Amino acid sequence: MKLKNKIFAAALLSAISAGGLTACSSAPKPEETTSVETVSDTEATSGSELTKSIPTGNSVSDNDYILNPFDMGVAAKAASELNTGNKQYLSGEADMDVSASLRDQLTNGQKPHTVVITCSDSRVPPELIFNADLGELFTIRTAGNVVGDYEVGSVEYAVDHLGSQLVLVMGHSSCGAVGAAVEGHASGNVASIVDEIVPSVKEAEKTESSKESIAEKAEDLNVENTLTKLRESAVIRELENSGKIKLVGAKYDIETGKVKYFTDNGNN
Ligand SMILES: [Zn+2]
Repeated sequence: MKLKNKIFAAALLSAISAGGLTACSSAPKPEETTSVETVSDTEATSGSELTKSIPTGNSVSDNDYILNPFDMGVAAKAASELNTGNKQYLSGEADMDVSASLRDQLTNGQKPHTVVITCSDSRVPPELIFNADLGELFTIRTAGNVVGDYEVGSVEYAVDHLGSQLVLVMGHSSCGAVGAAVEGHASGNVASIVDEIVPSVKEAEKTESSKESIAEKAEDLNVENTLTKLRESAVIRELENSGKIKLVGAKYDIETGKVKYFTDNGNN
């Protein structure tokens, strides 16, 4: 946690000294105040400066793989934590704090900066992917990162009572639940999960032909579907509309370990 804060401070200082903060804070376009796009064309300078300023042993130059804190409003610090944490994970510098002293400190309460809704897949553990300390992530996992009443209620609890400012819906490559929906067969209660994903598969089939490309597209659309479901909650929608939380979609690559953020996640 301390290391990450130092890196965030260094990144912020570098961005400010490079003029990035000034550039971002001057006369933003209307959509920039609500958009969660990582970096738009007009923000390329500040975004690239910020990326360069975060040290990593595994170069990540594509802006799709960072959340630009300057676009994230109240969730700026949460976004920086995720950016830095994933870079540390990629570079083998993970140092998550799971110490007895932190456990003791957290007995006084939790204030997770981010809610992560992702798949139950054993290859997609958010705490590891983001090098997160105890108490940092409020995590909800279901096969295929689908949500129903229990999951949406869990998100409501985190954003309304624990003060989480960022809600990240993260799908992943080679998702078995999406694969089952593409294949079109499931038994038992798995069928209810597949039923939730099938509309994304049907949509993907309109533009894709091979099973592989249909699955890849459906994985993305399934994240959008979950974001839509979350926004059907009055609690979540009102907090987002009032700028108190940010909702973001993303996809984790199980091969590279990188998290790619969606630039068009339906945010208003
Ligand atoms: Zn999955």
